[in-house]
Amino acid sequence: MGKIIIIGAGGVGSVVAHKCAQNPDVFTRIVLASRTIGKCRKVKARIREMTGISITAEQTDAENVKKTRALIKKHKPDLVINVALPYQDLAIMDACLAEKVNYLDTANYEPKDKAKFEYKWQWAYQSRFKKAGIMALLGSGFDPGVTNVFTAYARKHLFDRIRTLDILDCNAGSHGKSFATNFNPEINIRELTQIVRHWDRGTWIKTPPIIEEGSIHFDFDYPEVGPRPSYLLFHEELESLVRNIKGLERARFWMTFSENYLTHLRVLHNLGLTRIDPVDYEGKKIVPLQFLKALLPEPATLAENYTGKTVIGCIMKGEKDGKEKGVYIYNVCDHAECYKEVRSQAISYTTGVPAMIGAMLMIKGIWKGKGVYNMEELDPDPFMEGLNKYGLPWKLAEYNQELKG
Ligand code: NDP
Repeated sequence: MGKIIIIGAGGVGSVVAHKCAQNPDVFTRIVLASRTIGKCRKVKARIREMTGISITAEQTDAENVKKTRALIKKHKPDLVINVALPYQDLAIMDACLAEKVNYLDTANYEPKDKAKFEYKWQWAYQSRFKKAGIMALLGSGFDPGVTNVFTAYARKHLFDRIRTLDILDCNAGSHGKSFATNFNPEINIRELTQIVRHWDRGTWIKTPPIIEEGSIHFDFDYPEVGPRPSYLLFHEELESLVRNIKGLERARFWMTFSENYLTHLRVLHNLGLTRIDPVDYEGKKIVPLQFLKALLPEPATLAENYTGKTVIGCIMKGEKDGKEKGVYIYNVCDHAECYKEVRSQAISYTTGVPAMIGAMLMIKGIWKGKGVYNMEELDPDPFMEGLNKYGLPWKLAEYNQELKG
């Protein structure tokens, strides 16, 4: 039915490749391209062994538009799935525009020299994508991604108006390392050391980063895993949701962190190891965070011994037929089950499965359009069905308690 190029052979890229290979009726040809070809070959061998499907491995540098264009010319895909790093988003979008091929990613663009992720750079492609007659689907992971779809589903079926949205992301798993990040360390640490923002009646309220005195947190009692300290954090889906879900008064994002994790992060930050500006080291310029990334475990390597579960979902409150109501839509995912199925941990899995579902809906023409789309702008129903079918079943419960945060 459709040919795809997946760019990025890390934790998430491996899951996308596995899940696409499990659906050969839709994904008839899969190319996995990344900076280090050895990683693509490793994934290729594992997919062959687990599914019998043969994929193609390619080396590329996605920051080089010419190289991506050459890759597209060679393989003529219907869709390019970008699960490399957010730094490459614009270069890959440029290549897709030039070759008139659809585009999908899971994380919004951020410039290397400034830790600030925003949709403005990618939204600026709207008219060019429209004119070229192609579609870009932004943020088809879990958060952003599934959380946007949960909100769109609630807006469509459960509410006349959603007044407050709280997205809660809990990883109650354990990988056995003293400190590691569950997705790309550089991107993850840039996100976690930023000033926090949440939306409240028309303005962005700023609060201290999670590692600083005065950060906002409370214990939330998560289904299946119990109470966990949850910290207010800025997350990219808030930006598109407050624009696209009309009537939202307040939107917040919470993520769980252990005291051990925060202590490590504070120390690294205080030592200057999370800095993103180049410093002189023995006559060379090095970026401390990039050096730190080289020392930390790669997300894909955490998978084998990971135990425990993730619980990610949205609590929404508002009105239906003149009455106040509250709901909680969430997914629970087990690290060890993910490993059994595709040799990954749950953070990579919960990102890679939605990327595959988004790609499937685009290839089947169920989600179609010309221009740049965030997930909540498309019909949530087929995506919600896909989640149940392809490994991320969701639950819906009434939720009328006050959130203490
Ligand atoms: P990894 O670091 O494991 O993988 C990134 C991969 O991209 C690596 O294989 C890397 O190659 C490759 N890469 C980096 N730069 C280039 C380049 N210039 N050209 C080609 N390939 C390149 O990260 P993850 O798999 O954990 O994360 C991937 C993406 O998913 C990130 O953008 C992250 O932000 C996003 N994400 C989204 C989530 C969501 O819910 N929406 C949640 C988690 C992650 P090499 O191995 O050579 O370094």
